[in-house]
Amino acid sequence: MIDTLILGGGLAGTAAALWLADLGRTCTIVEARPRLGGRAHARPWGAGGVAVDYGGGWLRKDHAEMIGLAQRLGLALSPRAPITQHSHFRNGMWHAAPAEDMKAHQAGLTQLLTDAAQMSDDTPASRALNAMTLQDYLTHRALPASVEREVLAWWALSGSAPPDQVGVNEYLTPKLAKGLLVKLEELAFTVQGGASIIPQEAAKASGADVVLGDAAERLEDRGDCVQATLTSGRKITARTALVALPLNTLSQIRFTPPLNPAQSRLSKLGHQGAAIKLMIRAQGPSPGHLATGEALGLRWIYADRHLPDGSTLLVAFGLFQDVGEPTLATVQAAMAAAFPTAEVLDFDWHDWVNDPFARGTWVSPALHSLPDYAAQHWAMQGRIAFAGSDLYSTEQGWFEGALLTARAAVAALDLCLKQNG
Ligand SMILES: Cc1cc2nc3c(=O)[nH]c(=O)nc-3n(C[C@H](O)[C@H](O)[C@H](O)COP(=O)(O)OP(=O)(O)OC[C@H]3O[C@@H](n4cnc5c(N)ncnc54)[C@H](O)[C@@H]3O)c2cc1C
Repeated sequence: MIDTLILGGGLAGTAAALWLADLGRTCTIVEARPRLGGRAHARPWGAGGVAVDYGGGWLRKDHAEMIGLAQRLGLALSPRAPITQHSHFRNGMWHAAPAEDMKAHQAGLTQLLTDAAQMSDDTPASRALNAMTLQDYLTHRALPASVEREVLAWWALSGSAPPDQVGVNEYLTPKLAKGLLVKLEELAFTVQGGASIIPQEAAKASGADVVLGDAAERLEDRGDCVQATLTSGRKITARTALVALPLNTLSQIRFTPPLNPAQSRLSKLGHQGAAIKLMIRAQGPSPGHLATGEALGLRWIYADRHLPDGSTLLVAFGLFQDVGEPTLATVQAAMAAAFPTAEVLDFDWHDWVNDPFARGTWVSPALHSLPDYAAQHWAMQGRIAFAGSDLYSTEQGWFEGALLTARAAVAALDLCLKQNG
């Protein structure tokens, strides 16, 4: 019998397979899609066939687990182009400065950055801020429209959810006190060839058996072993199991014994992360040019790099509820506002919200559900452990969070295997 059955071949599941192999443990990975990587998903796009990240792409400099794993697998990182220009778009036009009234804008910005600085203090004021959704906060502070527009632009990258459901603390954090651009400045690297190489190579190096294109439907802890039933009807038995699935897909699995009350509540509610990440190919924009504001729901557009044919790859974010199904006309209109001299060649994206094996982008917890994310509710129970970037960690929602939870789960699985055989 194998030591650990891993449900989910994303970053958390494949890294766990590698680290379990380091401890001499045998694994089988079950992945619903015909490919590994989950929300780390790169595929060739555009002339020259360069791999582009449709899901997660950027790493921070302090993401030690991610950088360490890339190094171990012999994968190179590419630095992000430095920010060379920041323009603001509104009313169908771009502007070098964000507001009609710079004085009111600066005062509103100062208020925002002051609030950000105190978010982790233990004071009545910071507790009140931490209890607000983004919408509550915007109403409470009545910031000038220009500041609100900027907040919503960056929210597409941070909160990435309807502003009335998710806490302002998903965006307003002490590091923001350095200025709004910090959220882009910290995105230091991408993985050369695309982020999905990491889970693919980790799975290969682990030596685990990989089952592709067969989703888990049931997972039973039988006391002396675990058994999963897959869509095909296949059953796989192992000593222990690791559930490394997106939070928003957990309700599709029948667990025996059932999930604990916090897990059950959260799997029914899900997280609210529902952004759109668009890749746009255009002639004209120089890498490093950022445009923020609002144009048909696309609020944040960054000229990322040149492609081999000389065109520029731009990455744009918006909220799913604002952008809807993007069309070439939408993208051209947004680009006409943000990069007026650019010629749009093409665009592409992946709909993570309607993807049955993701049901959302990166985690964005509804404010009232935060207690159910607490690590103790997701600690190993019986022979079943949980991991994934949607679960709580200091880097929740990032690739790094997937790895931190995988590390903790591997330690718990190894202990369980030692104690129970
Ligand atoms: C558009 C977008 C942009 C992002 N940008 C960044 C970024 O720049 N930097 C960053 O650090 N993070 C970013 N993220 C987040 C990052 O991609 C994720 O946090 C990370 O990839 C999640 O890894 P995971 O292993 O926890 O989950 P997943 O990658 O979702 O892996 C879970 C796996 O389980 C599989 N699965 C689902 N249901 C079943 C089933 N029933 N049976 C078997 N398998 C199943 C899925 O197919 C998937 O492969 C972004 C995410 C998105 C969507």
